[in-house]
Amino acid sequence: MSADRTAALRNLPSVDQLLRRLADQDEVRGITRARLTALVREVLGQERARVLEERTAPSEIETLSARVVERARRVGTFSLRPVINAQGVVLHTNLGRALMSPLALERLAAVATAYSNLELDLARKERGSRYSHVEALLQRLTGAEDALVVNNNAAAVLLALETLAHGREVIVSRGELIEIGGEFRIPDIMLRSGAVLREVGATNRTHVRDYADAITSDTALLLKVHTSNYRVVGFTAEVSSRELVELGRERGVPVMEDLGSGSLIDLRPWGFPHEPTAQETVAAGVDLVSFSGDKLLGGPQAGIVVGRRAIVSQLKKNPWNRALRIDKFTIAALEATLYAYEAGTALQTVPTLVMLTEPLAAVRSRARRVLRRLPPEVRTRLGVSLVDDQAKVGGGALPTVELPTAALAVGTSAAAAMRLDEVLRAGDPPVVGRIVHDRLFLDCRTVLPAQVTVLAAALTAAAARL
Ligand SMILES: *Cc1c(COP(=O)(O)O)cnc(C)c1O
Repeated sequence: MSADRTAALRNLPSVDQLLRRLADQDEVRGITRARLTALVREVLGQERARVLEERTAPSEIETLSARVVERARRVGTFSLRPVINAQGVVLHTNLGRALMSPLALERLAAVATAYSNLELDLARKERGSRYSHVEALLQRLTGAEDALVVNNNAAAVLLALETLAHGREVIVSRGELIEIGGEFRIPDIMLRSGAVLREVGATNRTHVRDYADAITSDTALLLKVHTSNYRVVGFTAEVSSRELVELGRERGVPVMEDLGSGSLIDLRPWGFPHEPTAQETVAAGVDLVSFSGDKLLGGPQAGIVVGRRAIVSQLKKNPWNRALRIDKFTIAALEATLYAYEAGTALQTVPTLVMLTEPLAAVRSRARRVLRRLPPEVRTRLGVSLVDDQAKVGGGALPTVELPTAALAVGTSAAAAMRLDEVLRAGDPPVVGRIVHDRLFLDCRTVLPAQVTVLAAALTAAAARL
């Protein structure tokens, strides 16, 4: 390295000098020392490279310190933080699926910040079961004899197969060998559980006799899987839960149904197609029913299993259950969510249900409220207009349903829309919309009423940065 370049680098402030400079700045107050040091090193590293490449003197320490502040603002203090879902996908796995109701949050906070009777039977002062806090509610709501909750529905299916069918056969229709994304495929789960998959029928048609012909002394379970995220249409036939139960009873083989989303409310009155509810499936006689806590139910991430006591108790005794067990936060939030269903307040308080059933007029009026908060020059600059469009349920539920919705369409060209999308995602809070043709749509069905002002401010800020 030449002498002048070495001299130039000597003028670069040290990590400690820059940290001292930043010590009294409000903007970096919430950031840990270790994180700030990492940011300082990044900025100094870039500056060092620049000095060497451009053969110039290093920037002033104020400039470098401002760069650290800017970077800190951009990355934020925490990695996991709220975003505005303007994609119009109500149950978006990448955006955290279901939101918590105020009551669920209240119960979670209460149990998180104080000791609780998580596993203490208070009346007897004996060890209790953590599941007891939701068992009775699940029994009443679904009509099942017993219930169990694990980490998620994938875990529920794994636990059921491992318990009931390890080393034996499970019969599944070829039309139901689903993949739901995130590495969940029925054949793979089956393999891991040690159960042997016995496929029957054809992709589009499976009949009762296909199941009947496949049953042998090695058959441990008849499994029905709800095809949550796709539909087989056209010349199709599937065996109903009731028919499968009838066959299972006749031949002495238990029947399980993985409902996927598993609603507790029939949403037909709000224009949705019929989805089998958990209680309908239990009433059909299915021995074991599993579904997610954070899909249509609108609760915390969980895998709910309800069914016959003799079978559920086998699952409870499996050591795998201990490895898949839910924590107290989940139990608190789930109890509050289920309570809302029993109290008849779910449609008003569980955010997922509120968003799914909100009338189009209300969504439109929220979109108009965002629009009204935009200064006229911002509206012109971004080319904002109000459009009607279709939102989605998401979460692998009701894949063919299109929810009428209202969106703000922004961007005067494809390039402008893409740039705006990028700027909005980099903002705080980040806003995630969807590109439709050459515009960015900000779907207001999933924008919360409390986010109207923030969204307008984000758009205004983005307009200034374009
Ligand atoms: C979503 C889904 C699962 C997995 O549920 P998670 O709670 O995400 O683990 C399993 N089976 C079906 C049919 C599903 O739709």
